Amino acid sequence: MTAAEPLMRMRLRVEQDIFAVRQLGREVARAVGLESQDQTRIATALSEVGRVLLGAGSETDVTFTVEPYGVPTLQVTMAYSATGGTPRLAEQLQLVGRLVDTMEVDDEGAGTTVRMVRRLPLGAPALTPIRMDEIRASLARHVPGSPLDELAVQNRQLIAALNEVRAQRDDLARLNAELEETNRGVMALYHQLSDELEETNRGVVALYAELDEKSVQLRAASEAKSRFLANVSHELRAPVTAIIGLGRLLTDSSSDQLTEEQSRQVELIRASASDLLTLVNGLLDLAKAEAGRIEPNWSQVDLKAVFGQLRGTLRPLATRPEVEFVVDEPAVPTLRSDEVLLAQVLRNLLTNALKFTEAGSVRLSVRPVGDEVEFVVADTGIGIPPQLQERIFEEFYQVPGSKPVSGKGTGLGLPYARRLAGILGGGLRVDSAPGEGSTFTLQLPVTS
Ligand code: ADP
Repeated sequence: MTAAEPLMRMRLRVEQDIFAVRQLGREVARAVGLESQDQTRIATALSEVGRVLLGAGSETDVTFTVEPYGVPTLQVTMAYSATGGTPRLAEQLQLVGRLVDTMEVDDEGAGTTVRMVRRLPLGAPALTPIRMDEIRASLARHVPGSPLDELAVQNRQLIAALNEVRAQRDDLARLNAELEETNRGVMALYHQLSDELEETNRGVVALYAELDEKSVQLRAASEAKSRFLANVSHELRAPVTAIIGLGRLLTDSSSDQLTEEQSRQVELIRASASDLLTLVNGLLDLAKAEAGRIEPNWSQVDLKAVFGQLRGTLRPLATRPEVEFVVDEPAVPTLRSDEVLLAQVLRNLLTNALKFTEAGSVRLSVRPVGDEVEFVVADTGIGIPPQLQERIFEEFYQVPGSKPVSGKGTGLGLPYARRLAGILGGGLRVDSAPGEGSTFTLQLPVTS
């Protein structure tokens, strides 16, 4: 701990001394390293406090000390010794307090003490004991000027302060103008950006509205198509069935004997009607599947039984000795699915394979693959060119020039099979090489 070191003392007795204390204050402030503005602040604070205290009618002791260590400060104590105090002193000195860092007014005891502290700037010369002695010596040599001299100094300081204020005001005005300019720029940019954003938003909203409208139209068109197909095929079924029945009646042995030519023609009519019925039934199935009117009947399907049934029903179609028809033992025993729909897809694929295979083999198998099972129908038939491998899933599409080895087709089997695969929660794909064969894979999920 080090005590503050006293630097100078003086006593205020008469009004003239206020000038003296003012000058002394400035000198001390300069000597300890305070800047010119701070010197004026200290001088003004001292003359104000002195004026107030002297006005209260008593002599005042002024002591200048410095605290050279830690945070170096200049401290001034002005003690007013008479009893009775100064009314509203703290209030009167409120403005003066702003000129220093701290100001305390103590009027508890016999007299009143005002203590002011101002921090010294960082760059101020160190207040070593030698420096302190030098300061004391120079202050002792100080000859106080006349009130007129002090007035001149004050005027100079006032002019300097006014100049500074004006310069600061000009600076402020310039800064404000710049700020305003920047603000205008920022606002313009903001408006431009928000306009662009709004424009883009409007575009996106319009695009979405159009998309919505288009998808509603698309859905309506697809529903209309399915409805039309369902109605037409339904209406056609009855007359076509009637034609087949009538044809059978005409060729029945109990009917009148027809000539050979008549028999041939009636047979032709029956065959055509039968083809038409197949087509109508296919259309009706597809329309139902597309309209979402097929609800799977979920159950644990015994694949061994399904495979056995397919083996039995399709064996009669595999009439060519050059084609080996193989239905493997299922590697997956059961699967949660719809037995009828599953059998229908596999039957379609196997029928196609038998239709388009002249020699070699047609094979059905099933295998587990990850979370799924895959039913594979592989043949060694004519194959399908790569660019048509997706088209064969379109309604009525048949590969040009692909004549079935046996039977006929409507071009509805594969689109229907793919729909059913979707309804069962899976998918249907093909791998094929012309002249080598085709492999159709029905992949279905395993659900418990
Ligand atoms: P369909 O067999 O009644 O003509 P599909 O929709 O079942 O109708 O098949 C469409 C077309 O795909 C067939 O006409 C045929 O050209 C081709 N296709 C289907 N399966 C095979 C296959 N296993 N091998 C070669 N071509 C096939």
